[in-house]
Amino acid sequence: MMNPSSIDSFRHAIRGVVLCPGDEGYDAARAIPNAMIDRRPAIIARCSGAADVVACVRFAREHDLVVAVRGGGHSVAGKSVCEGGLMIDLSTMKGIRVDPVRRTARAQTGLTLGDFDRETQAFGLATTLGVVSKTGIAGLTLGGG
Ligand SMILES: Cc1cc2nc3c(=O)[nH]c(=O)nc-3n(C[C@H](O)[C@H](O)[C@H](O)COP(=O)(O)OP(=O)(O)OC[C@H]3O[C@@H](n4cnc5c(N)ncnc54)[C@H](O)[C@@H]3O)c2cc1C
Repeated sequence: MMNPSSIDSFRHAIRGVVLCPGDEGYDAARAIPNAMIDRRPAIIARCSGAADVVACVRFAREHDLVVAVRGGGHSVAGKSVCEGGLMIDLSTMKGIRVDPVRRTARAQTGLTLGDFDRETQAFGLATTLGVVSKTGIAGLTLGGG
């Protein structure tokens, strides 16, 4: 059990949303496409930016918490959600900047393949990704399926 005052301090330390069991949105946030995975993190942090991620890692280290990192959530084995511990949910980080002159894109880790395609195709650009549009660019970039 986490000390409630530590969780309160954590809520104030990040710009994103912190969800605990019983909070509205908690069950939706812990659900992943593979419905056979039914794990209950002690805390879910829906990050808004890199500073939130830093705060999450620091908090997990201070409290010796197991950590799971969620991008698109398509790991079939459910690697993006942990039982107890801290789920660092990056699916809300969906920023992307396309440079049509250099033909490059800088994309945040929460984008799905569909999100990425939509923004790059607006400039007539595309890059090699997967087939299913709801898969995350993060997990796919880090190793794919
Ligand atoms: C329906 C379906 C279709 C698929 N189609 C394809 C395909 O066409 N081509 C292909 O190559 N693969 C495909 N895959 C496999 C898919 O690419 C991998 O499962 C990929 O890891 C999913 O990435 P994600 O971000 O959605 O998943 P997640 O479960 O969120 O992440 C996968 C792993 O990466 C870690 N991770 C995520 N984000 C970060 C981060 N920012 N930093 C550090 N670690 C992170 C997670 O902790 C987890 O261990 C498919 C999978 C499914 C279920």
